[in-house]
Amino acid sequence: MAGTLVAMSTAAGPPAIAVTGLHKHYGDKHAVDGLDLQVDRGEIVAVLGPNGAGKTTTVEILEGYRHRDGGQVQVLGVDPQAGDRAWRSRIGIVLQSSEDLGSATVTELVRHFAAYYPHHRDVEGLIAAVGLSEKARTRARHLSGGQRRRLDVALGIVGKPELLFLDEPTTGFDPQARHDFWDLVESLRDEGTTILLTTHYLEEAERLADRVVVVTDGTVVAQGSPHDLGGRTSHRALVRWNEDDVVRERATDSPTRVVAELAARFAAAGQDEVPGLQVLRPSLEDVYLQLIGAEQTTGTTTIEEVRR
Ligand code: ATP
Repeated sequence: MAGTLVAMSTAAGPPAIAVTGLHKHYGDKHAVDGLDLQVDRGEIVAVLGPNGAGKTTTVEILEGYRHRDGGQVQVLGVDPQAGDRAWRSRIGIVLQSSEDLGSATVTELVRHFAAYYPHHRDVEGLIAAVGLSEKARTRARHLSGGQRRRLDVALGIVGKPELLFLDEPTTGFDPQARHDFWDLVESLRDEGTTILLTTHYLEEAERLADRVVVVTDGTVVAQGSPHDLGGRTSHRALVRWNEDDVVRERATDSPTRVVAELAARFAAAGQDEVPGLQVLRPSLEDVYLQLIGAEQTTGTTTIEEVRR
């Protein structure tokens, strides 16, 4: 996805997304249960949560595809239930499962979708940007799963949306395609596009998101920068090393001091290196699993207990 995308100015105004007290139930099932969410203009927010947490339901309400049972929702200053065509043209959507696009080629489809938007992207440039130039004349139904997903992304951004919804966009991508896609999202960020992303890939959230929002049982249980969600950067470190054929560990608030002491002790014994030395802090995945585990089990576990 090496192409360069055409720059777009960021519109000033209210938050891109403002949600308070959102409720949606299916029969007895409270799929969304008092969810609050704000996404500022130009922000990339990743919504994380286990299967069935209510992410897709929430996103579909924001996109105007599903009616809510309660709460306040504003998307680009408009209630999605009253969103008209002009509002819709300001929004880009990449759904989890895309519709059947029939026998049209990649170029035909991108050109067709572009015609719906007053200020669309250059069709060939966009196809290059999503890495499909070699497949430009291929029928959509003959694309591989990952190539098809790239086409979905192209169709979602062809209208230069101010706000882009990406629902598990890289499912089925090979590692190279995923990295290419991340570069593409970063170029959209540089243009000022606001992005709401749902993903099950913690690495993806960490790489792309300014903020992650963790949802379980239809409500937000934690949010913050991916680098310090749950206070993980200020969390106690675990220093690990090998000594006398045994793996040793020490939990500490002062890993530098522990490492210096170890280095001095090993140096005194004639060893320049501390064997197997590692300094570990909880990863985003550790914190995330703790958060959703804490919600799903007894509720007594706290983030302070996260350990590698
Ligand atoms: P995933 O990560 O698996 O995509 P999700 O967080 O997006 O999950 P939702 O698809 O929003 O979760 O579903 C939330 C809950 O609502 C689930 O228990 C699901 O079974 C239920 N649900 C979703 N859509 C419907 C529907 N149309 N009818 C009945 N129940 C539904």
